[in-house]
Amino acid sequence: MGQGEFDIIARYFTRNAQRSEVQLSVGDDAAVVAPPAGKRLVVAMDTIVEGIHFPAGTAAEDIGYRVLAVNLSDMAAMGAEPAWMTLSLSAPLADEAWFAGFAQGLFELADRHRVDLIGGDTVKGPLVATVQIAGWVESDRWLTRSGAQPGDLLFVSGVPGEAAAGLAVVQQAIPLTPAAQHLQRRFLRPEPRVALGRALRAIATSAMDVSDGLLTDLDKLCAASGCGARVDIDALPLSRQALEIFPYDACVDYALAGGDDYEMIFTVAPARLADLAGILPGGVPCTQIGVLTGNSVECWRAGQPFIPGRRGYDHFAPHLSQAHPIQDGARS
Ligand code: ADP
Ligand code: MG
Repeated sequence: MGQGEFDIIARYFTRNAQRSEVQLSVGDDAAVVAPPAGKRLVVAMDTIVEGIHFPAGTAAEDIGYRVLAVNLSDMAAMGAEPAWMTLSLSAPLADEAWFAGFAQGLFELADRHRVDLIGGDTVKGPLVATVQIAGWVESDRWLTRSGAQPGDLLFVSGVPGEAAAGLAVVQQAIPLTPAAQHLQRRFLRPEPRVALGRALRAIATSAMDVSDGLLTDLDKLCAASGCGARVDIDALPLSRQALEIFPYDACVDYALAGGDDYEMIFTVAPARLADLAGILPGGVPCTQIGVLTGNSVECWRAGQPFIPGRRGYDHFAPHLSQAHPIQDGARS
């Protein structure tokens, strides 16, 4: 983008590094980082695309926040301490106000988690943002999807389904009552569970963040662990605010198949259950919603097998408006 690109990088994406590990940051051909002794480097990358992961017209602040939030959620799922990121940003306009907003949302969350932006790329094109994030984990202690065993207890953090309900609020232009505002905020400003992930290293046998839908992501965790699960629908925490606005069945569907919550699912051996309450960070409710089994992932409700209408974003959602590009698109 020539001169404009240089100005944008200098004005919006160049800041003093907060971390001593970062020895050279934005401005050279590459960044230089000194990993802390005895730690392992944990690396993840996530891309968000307008019309697929967020609706066209989403505020720049919310897009900047979101591209980091989805990456922090991957660090959380590994039990890692996030440390630095690089940003690849493709934007259609060299619009100063837009870049200022994007940077504000991005750094608001970055500062909360002490994540330094150490480099990136800025180009003109369709609205697409990618963050590569890196963090540290103690050399013998990280979380994976693959350690669950039959008999382990299955937990979910927070209230799954609120973000999907919040997306419906946005896309159906539902009047912004306090309940609707709460849900909208849960979609626009997901809270990655970094502290929970750090705490779970001591206890969880497996963990994963929920981005595509609780059931579809549980399928992945179970496949990685070589086991199954039985989910108790009656134990599922449902959003009080969603229930104010949407029918009960829609709320169950949001909780089971809605993505974008960036809550965590994790498993704990029954013998460690008593230790769990003592390590959970404040303000992060976790609910047991089932148990790991030998084979497939099944749902039960009132003592009967329950077949959900969909498991995640791979499936069509009949009760949602059909004009949902971000629900119909392929996601990852
Ligand atoms: P090069 O031509 O060597 O690839 P660029 O001109 O693309 O370098 O970038 C100059 C510097 O600005 C590099 O340090 C790069 O990492 C950084 N940078 C570019 N875009 C961004 C961005 N969106 N966020 C953070 N750093 C960026
Ligand atoms: Mg260069």
